[in-house]
Amino acid sequence: MAPTEVARIADTIRARQKFVLSSHARPDGDAIGSQLAMAYALRALGKDVRVVNRDAAPPPLMAFAGVPDIEIAAKVEGEFDVAIIMECGDLDRTGVTGLERGLVINIDHHPGNTGYGQINWFDPTAAACGEMVFDLIVGLGVPLTPEIATHIYVAIITDTGSFHFSSISPRTFDICRILLEAGVDPVRVARSVFDSGTMARLKLFGALLSGMQIDATGRIAVLYLDHEMADAAGGTYEDTDGLINEPLTVKEIQAVIMFKHVAGDEYRVSMRSKGAIDVNAVAKTFGGGGHKNAAGCTAIGRIEALRQLFVERVSGTSGWTGS
Ligand code: 5GP
Ligand code: MN
Repeated sequence: MAPTEVARIADTIRARQKFVLSSHARPDGDAIGSQLAMAYALRALGKDVRVVNRDAAPPPLMAFAGVPDIEIAAKVEGEFDVAIIMECGDLDRTGVTGLERGLVINIDHHPGNTGYGQINWFDPTAAACGEMVFDLIVGLGVPLTPEIATHIYVAIITDTGSFHFSSISPRTFDICRILLEAGVDPVRVARSVFDSGTMARLKLFGALLSGMQIDATGRIAVLYLDHEMADAAGGTYEDTDGLINEPLTVKEIQAVIMFKHVAGDEYRVSMRSKGAIDVNAVAKTFGGGGHKNAAGCTAIGRIEALRQLFVERVSGTSGWTGS
C-alpha cells in the first residue's frame, strides 16, 4: 500500500468532474479490469467518465459489465479534466493521442514505467494494476459493488496467470477474499475468462503445439504463428491469447518464446518464464518490456536467426542459476 499516493490521487479525483480512463493498446484483463473498476467507482461518486482505448477488449472479456461500451479510438476528442492511465508503462503505449490535454494520473506496476504523469503512482510489487485500483477505490470510500469487485478480480486472475506468477503476495489473497465477500462469483469469472473460446482457437492451439520446437537443453519452447496458420484454422491471432502458457505446464520447460509474424521481416515476440528467469531483461534489449515472467517486444530479422538469437538471450539470463 502507498497511503501518500492514494490520498493524493483521491483528493485530486474528488476535486475534478470529467474523467477519461485509458490503458495500453491491445488491452489485457488487467487493463480492462482496472479501467472498468475505476469507471464504476468514479460514477458512484457522481463523476462523468469515459473509457477510451486504442483496441477492443479480448472477446472473452465482453461478457463483463461495461466492457462492450468502451470507446475505441486513436484520439480522444472533447473536453475533460483528468486522464487516468492505468496499467501502462508509457503514454505512447496507449496508442491514444490527446490524453495529455487533461491532468495525467499514471497508475501502474510495470517495471520501467516512465513516470509520464503529473501524478505518478508506481508500484512494481503489485501483482496486478488491479491491486492498486483496489486500494484507490477503498481510499475514495466507494463501496465495492459486485461489478467493481468482479473487474478487480478479473484484473488479478488474468495478470497473475491464474495465480501462477511470482508477483503474487499475501495481499493478493487478502484482496481476493474481500472481492469474493463483495459478490464476485469466481466460477463464473473463470468460465467466462478461460472457457469461452472458439473452435478455431482450439484448432490453432493444435497447429501451434504441433510446430513447437524445443531447444537443445530441453528447457525452452519456441512457438511460431503466421497468418497462413491462423487462416487454415479459421481463426485470428487473438484466438491464441493464453496459448503461450501451455508449454510451461511441462515440468522441464522453464521458458517459452512465441513469434507472431507481422509482415515482411517483422515479428511480435512474447515470452513467458518460470521463477527467477527474467524475460523482461531480454525484451528490454529489443526495446520492449513487461514483467520478469511475462514480457514482449518487436523484432526484425529472418525467423531462423531470430529463433536462435532469442533462445541464446533467454539461456543467457541469470535466473537459470539454481533452477
Ligand atoms: P504479451 O506477451 O502478452 O504481449 O505481453 C506480456 C507483457 O509484456 C505485458 O505486461 C505487456 O504489457 C508487456 N509487453 C509486451 N510487449 C511489449 C512491448 O513491446 N513493450 C513493452 N514496454 N512492454 C511490452
Ligand atoms: Mn498488469
